[in-house]
Amino acid sequence: MSCQRCQSQRINSVTAKCSDLCGGNVKGRDYEGYVPADLGIGGGDYVEFSYCMDCGQMQNNFPLPQSTIEKDLEDSDLMDFFLNWDLEPAGFKFRESFWNMVDAANKMSAPFGSFLQNEFETQVQGLSNKVSGYKSPFNSWDELFKAYRNYVAR
Ligand SMILES: [Zn+2]
Repeated sequence: MSCQRCQSQRINSVTAKCSDLCGGNVKGRDYEGYVPADLGIGGGDYVEFSYCMDCGQMQNNFPLPQSTIEKDLEDSDLMDFFLNWDLEPAGFKFRESFWNMVDAANKMSAPFGSFLQNEFETQVQGLSNKVSGYKSPFNSWDELFKAYRNYVAR
């Protein structure tokens, strides 16, 4: 393997297993947990990347497409998400596993995942995975959209 910029053969291919102890920050947004697969640093349990020891060039196809950390959702995306879980914001109750919802939200957009977790975690803290009977703090779609916008604009 030779460097994509300077053709040097001095490429260091790094592999590190960190499992869910990965953390970082993109555009002021923190992430932590497993290695995000769309940042060019590996994915899942492993941090993996290669760089040139002569010129410092990270080896990859740049620019990378927009990552889930960076992505903000439209109102219609939020609505689709909740409707897919058979939930309406006004008075909804969790009938499904809250943490499965957070996982699904994180796959769409990291800010949405942390919004969901932040907004609802206090209500479900200390409870088992099967949560039911906890009321939504929102009275309408508009309230939910506004709360999300405020959250991602922090
Ligand atoms: Zn190089």
